[in-house]
Amino acid sequence: MTKITLALTKGRILKETLPLLKSAGIEPEEDIFSSRKLVFGTNIADLRLLILRGSDVPTYVQYGAADLGVAGKDILLEHQGDGYYEPLDLGIARCRLMTALPVGRAPVKGRIRVATKYINVARKFYAQQGRQADLIKLYGAMELAPILDLADEIVDIVDTGNTLKANGLEVRDHIADISSRLIVNKAAFKTKYRAIQYIVDALQQRVM
Ligand code: AMP
Repeated sequence: MTKITLALTKGRILKETLPLLKSAGIEPEEDIFSSRKLVFGTNIADLRLLILRGSDVPTYVQYGAADLGVAGKDILLEHQGDGYYEPLDLGIARCRLMTALPVGRAPVKGRIRVATKYINVARKFYAQQGRQADLIKLYGAMELAPILDLADEIVDIVDTGNTLKANGLEVRDHIADISSRLIVNKAAFKTKYRAIQYIVDALQQRVM
């Protein structure tokens, strides 16, 4: 059988991906959470799983180092790469990409500073709104930026909103609804069509 590599996003998305894979008949050979390994065999001969940081999943799939991947739509919007298809919305790890400001603060008029790890998404959003925004790249703890006056507002993913609330922020503008997607390398989809379509079909039947 053709060798197939499926890249998964670690963390919150992985916790929701593994039950979905299991229901589609795909199981890792050992417990991913109690191992420090990054590559795992599965019960399906020649299908292996990679455990990656979300922002690296589209890169592995784009260059064909992985044939398929599971990544958040937020990561895909930001990555803006080509070289892969997005055949399936897996409907897991749902959240929203939003702007957020300190509670009750009026939007700053004129040029604003925005802290985010989603620089490309934010640039496009503020341009569409006709607002001038200086973007400040952060890698985590975005919520701190408005509190410490590093930025006027942030762009981040929000689920329950508890993290924002705990840090004195509230959501303002909705940018996009987010869920995890299956992506497939375009060349591999041709050269390994049968094996890849088998996995896409198996997952499709399990997705609500
Ligand atoms: P929450 O307090 O529920 O709004 O979420 C807090 C943090 O969890 C967010 O700032 C994100 O960093 C992370 N988070 C929430 N939902 C997701 C998701 N679907 N995928 C990845 N990270 C998420």
